[in-house]
Amino acid sequence: MEEELARLREAALAEIAACGTEAELEAVRVRYLGRKGSLTEAVRGLGRVPPAERPALGALVNQAKEAVEAAVAVAGERLAAARLAESLAHDRIDVTLPGRRRPRGHAHPLRLVEDEIVDVFVGMGFQVAEGPEVEDDYHNFAALNFGADHPARDAQDTLFLADGPDLLLRTHTSPVQIRYMRATQPPLRVVVPGTVYRRDDLDPTHSPMFQQVEGFMVDERVSFADLKGVLVHFLRRLFGAETGVRFRPSFFPFTEPSAEVDIACVRCAAAGAADPACRVCRGRQWLEILGAGMIHPNVLRAVGYDPETVQGFAFGLGTDRIAILRYGIEDLRLFYENDLRFLAQFPS
Ligand SMILES: [Zn+2]
Repeated sequence: MEEELARLREAALAEIAACGTEAELEAVRVRYLGRKGSLTEAVRGLGRVPPAERPALGALVNQAKEAVEAAVAVAGERLAAARLAESLAHDRIDVTLPGRRRPRGHAHPLRLVEDEIVDVFVGMGFQVAEGPEVEDDYHNFAALNFGADHPARDAQDTLFLADGPDLLLRTHTSPVQIRYMRATQPPLRVVVPGTVYRRDDLDPTHSPMFQQVEGFMVDERVSFADLKGVLVHFLRRLFGAETGVRFRPSFFPFTEPSAEVDIACVRCAAAGAADPACRVCRGRQWLEILGAGMIHPNVLRAVGYDPETVQGFAFGLGTDRIAILRYGIEDLRLFYENDLRFLAQFPS
């Protein structure tokens, strides 16, 4: 038995030393140390040895096992290191090659301007809200105090959907006012960016799809002075602290009184002298920038508010128009054609 053990041990160590791959090593390990391996069998054979000889022989068997296990571990490390060295030599990476640059997208110029507008109002404590682009007559017109025969309801101006007699693409972001106010009690300050649709042909100054930002505030004792304060602050944040702002009386069904708000021409008035040939204002010195007013009592009633207790103001502006002025672009279509050569000029 002792000679047999010594022979097994020598044979195992020799085979391990001769292994050239990790697979060969594993085969040798199984042959000696596996469930039916020679050394494992030797451990089992101890049962047949006379009890007096067992302790000495058991110690020898264990020594042989440990010696083979240790040799397997050492050979395993040697073979793994050799495999790594080989694969490094074969699959060499040339770190001096330039990497492949992934094209990185950025925000659309209209989105950049929209973010800029919304940020100013968020800074004044306004919440941001959005609403559906497919609307019905009630939210888009009726609740906003449009009379039953108002021309805006005409199919020449509004894009109706064939799916239902009442469905249309919203012509302004104001239906979100109605939805928000019906779901919420004052006080509230909300700004609503979004896409709106009108039945227009695409030309340098019109598009059937364009962007608006709507804002409104409702609380006790809100006055036209609050509206003025908020809008003047907003326009000066956007166009510069010295920008001239003027309010002109106007009419909208959903506000009373209503105003149109102009800023001094960003090109010629800012330069200090009116230029009759100015391309931006066409010599008028003022640029129409937004519409606003005090929310009509009928609108407040339509959403369940009491106009005797709360008042509000609302305003709406065209994001496209601001973007045109901001970037000095003369053709609105550029924003919607999505030519990458154009879009790439507006890094965020
Ligand atoms: Zn001008």
